[in-house]
Amino acid sequence: MHDYLRYSTVLLRGSTAVMTGYSALRVFIEGMRGQTGWAPAWRSPAPKSRYDVIIVGGGGHGLATAYYLAKSHGVRSVAVLERGWLGGGNTGRNTTVIRSNYYYPESARLYDLALGLYEGLSRELNYNIMFSQRGVVVTAHSRHEMESAARWGGAMNLNGIDTQLLSVAEIKARIPVLDCSPGARFPVFGGFVQARAGTARHDAVAWGYARAADRLGVDIVQNCEVQGFRRSAGGRVTGVETSLGVIEADKVAMVAAGHSSVLAAMAGFSLPIRSYALQAFVSEPLKPVIDTVLLSMATGIYISQSDKGGLVLGGPLDHYQSYAQRGNAQTIRAVAAAVADQMPSLGRVRMARHWAGIVDVVPDSSPILGETPVPGLYINCGWGTGGFKAIPAGGTLLAHHLATGKAHPIAEPFGLKRFETGALIDEAAASGIAH
Ligand SMILES: Cc1cc2nc3c(=O)[nH]c(=O)nc-3n(C[C@H](O)[C@H](O)[C@H](O)COP(=O)(O)OP(=O)(O)OC[C@H]3O[C@@H](n4cnc5c(N)ncnc54)[C@H](O)[C@@H]3O)c2cc1C
Repeated sequence: MHDYLRYSTVLLRGSTAVMTGYSALRVFIEGMRGQTGWAPAWRSPAPKSRYDVIIVGGGGHGLATAYYLAKSHGVRSVAVLERGWLGGGNTGRNTTVIRSNYYYPESARLYDLALGLYEGLSRELNYNIMFSQRGVVVTAHSRHEMESAARWGGAMNLNGIDTQLLSVAEIKARIPVLDCSPGARFPVFGGFVQARAGTARHDAVAWGYARAADRLGVDIVQNCEVQGFRRSAGGRVTGVETSLGVIEADKVAMVAAGHSSVLAAMAGFSLPIRSYALQAFVSEPLKPVIDTVLLSMATGIYISQSDKGGLVLGGPLDHYQSYAQRGNAQTIRAVAAAVADQMPSLGRVRMARHWAGIVDVVPDSSPILGETPVPGLYINCGWGTGGFKAIPAGGTLLAHHLATGKAHPIAEPFGLKRFETGALIDEAAASGIAH
């Protein structure tokens, strides 16, 4: 036994240098040596006076942009400036649904790029993002909704996105907790499923990108608020004014979700964005009751179950614009009533937590990607209630634009210019997004 321990200690000491990645073996070894070998997942550097690229906003999209800039384009003089903590915005507040079931070909290309990247992300980042492809089922509750669902599913198939229409019996078999009886308050007429869709751990997505970007030399600076922009006599952006001082840069990217309009105002232009609180809820832990994600067209509520057993619920936006990160009671009541109506057996489940994030809503419910009216200043925003699912694509596409100076073909239709040309991608109407 003594020899075994001595041998193990030598082995563990020898492994220290090489064991910087995360793995099951590493967990085992750290368990053996009292968890003494873990290093912080990313550094906390003081900001330098200048970078090639500054990214404002340390949510998933900002961190992914930094990672792909460094990894795919070799641009390593990059800082991510976050006024709070990483993922403390919507990335750490969302209900983690990942799907690419949109209507128009432009959206299908964008969101399916993201879904494809999510499929390999744990391996790519060496960080378990717990991507669970449990499928997303959309249910229709009237003849008209069923017709829309069939159209929507048909468009997805035409766009090459997997989908399958479901009968009432098939939905009942998949989601026994849903009241599918003819007398139900919201009778089920059918629906469709995207089987490759699912959920992932939101914090892990932010942390995984942060760790991977840090390892490539990106400086991640938390508690650093951007308070203004520096511009040259010609109007080009030359840096940012922050709570930690002025930092210069060749290019700056605004990736600030619900606060994009505030930053745009600082830079001297306006965006077609309205900011609202979107709420989410988690219940007390239950035994498994639902093994997919359910989204109801009639009420706009959606529900899944976390690995800890909590039901994760969401619904429509709050009714008025706000920057206050808390929700109002009207929406809470509406979501609770819809859940109880559609899944009566859950009527007595207690909610454990509830919170809100400020989402950036664009009139056509599609994101804004690319250049702004200020030369050298780029933007990624407008994901509204659905940008978690797009993080790998948002990062890839903005990094491409920053590094090459040209919009990626997939991002091209999502530029600000569409609000001048009228070439909107109106997912709001097409795929039944209520917000
Ligand atoms: C309750 C809720 C549920 C949702 N559910 C889903 C879902 O199931 N699926 C899905 O796909 N999407 C969902 N979303 C939407 C999704 O969370 C967002 O679209 C996505 O996280 C946006 O990522 P981001 O990186 O652009 O923004 P954020 O994660 O919000 O990051 C922006 C960051 O910018 C920082 N910032 C702002 N101003 C400044 C400044 N002046 N200086 C420095 N930093 C600044 C903020 O602090 C913030 O951390 C949901 C959102 C909410 C609120």
